[in-house]
Formats: sequence, structure tokens, C-alpha cells
Amino acid sequence: MSRVRVVVTAGPTYEFLDPVRFLGNVSSGRMGFAIAEEAARKGHAVTLIAGPVHRLTPARVKRIDVVSAREMLAATRKAFRTADALFMTAAVADWRPVRKLKGKWRKGAVPGEVVSLDLVQNPDILATVAARKGERLVVGFALETADGVRRAREKMKRKGADYMVLNDASALNADRTSVTILGSDGSCRSIVDCTKKTIARNLVKLIPS
Ligand code: C5P
Repeated sequence: MSRVRVVVTAGPTYEFLDPVRFLGNVSSGRMGFAIAEEAARKGHAVTLIAGPVHRLTPARVKRIDVVSAREMLAATRKAFRTADALFMTAAVADWRPVRKLKGKWRKGAVPGEVVSLDLVQNPDILATVAARKGERLVVGFALETADGVRRAREKMKRKGADYMVLNDASALNADRTSVTILGSDGSCRSIVDCTKKTIARNLVKLIPS
């Protein structure tokens, strides 16, 4: 198999609202790291763009650490410029605070005080990058709690991905999970109750040689 240049994003993004607090999510990065590991094992040249997770970098993988969605967008854009395939596995925060306070956000003196936080939507990394993908492979992930296949197919179309890997909330932080791989060609394949390593091995097979 020829050496394909593969970009994988993994983990959450953190969106800071002051120097010590952030909006994040419980993504562990396991799936993305497993894909990076399997792709490197296959001999591909892998760049792994990782949100804030404590995981060892797989062997022969170039890792770029980022924190926020906007940092991940910049790193993904740059890496994908010279790549052949993208696995957009990261659980990117949908919103970020409109402002990041310079100092710590202090609570007022009134007990039970109600406060509010203004949020703005983050850029969609997958949609932005897939818009210039040409013939290159782009795989997205969709975590859905209801009406998964319909929603994932709609997302695949809207974001311009070739495949969407559908999973449910039980996938978060778990070692075993089930996924359904939906293709823009109408294909649909389920992998039931397998380790993320096995699922990663199957996803890496989508990379054209
Ligand atoms: O819309 P939703 O967040 O469910 O879409 C999930 C897919 O889109 C994942 O592949 C995720 O990495 C990607 N995504 C993105 N940028 C965002 C939000 C999601 O690339 N701001």
C-alpha cells in the first residue's frame, strides 16, 4: 500500500471564559487516537491534531496539540492542505463565550444570583475544510441520541463528507462501542459492540491506497 497522508482530529476543545474556567465536553480522544495509531501502523504518514486530552502519542504519529475550536480549525486547515484524507473525530465545542475575561469571573454578594453567559457559534471545521476537499477522503463523526441515521445522513450532506460514522452517547469514554458507517454513495454498514481499536482498523480501510 502507498504512503497516504492522513490527518486525524481527536478529543474535545476547551473554550475559556476566564483564565481558569472553560466550556468543554467529556470526549476522551480514544477513537481518534486509535485511528491515528492504526493508520500509522499501516504505514501512512499521520498528523494527529489533539484537543486537551492526556493520552500517549501513538508511534510514528506527528501530534499537534490545540485547545480551542479556532486553534483546531487553523491547524486542520494547514495540515489538510497537503494531505489525502481527513478523519474529523474531534468533539468540537459548538459554542464559545463571546468574551474571555482577563481576570477571574467573581460571584456577586447575592445568594442564588442568576447570571448569564453570552455564547457565539464556533466555525464548523469539517464543513470549512470539506468545501475544498476535491477527490480527497473526508470522514465525519456524528453522536446522536435519537433519529441517528436520518440526522447523520443530513449532516454528511450538509458538511460535504464522504462518510459519517454514527455512534450514540454510550461511545463517550468507553472502550467498546457500536457504530454505523454511512457513505455518501448510500452505503450503510454497522459494526456492533467492538473495541475502538477494531472499529479504527475498519475505518482505516476507507483510505484509498
Ligand atoms: O454537528 P455535529 O457537531 O454533530 O457534527 C459532528 C461532526 O462535525 C464531527 O465530525 C465533528 O468533528 C465535526 N464538527 C466540526 N466543527 C464543529 C462541530 C463539529 O468539525 N464546530
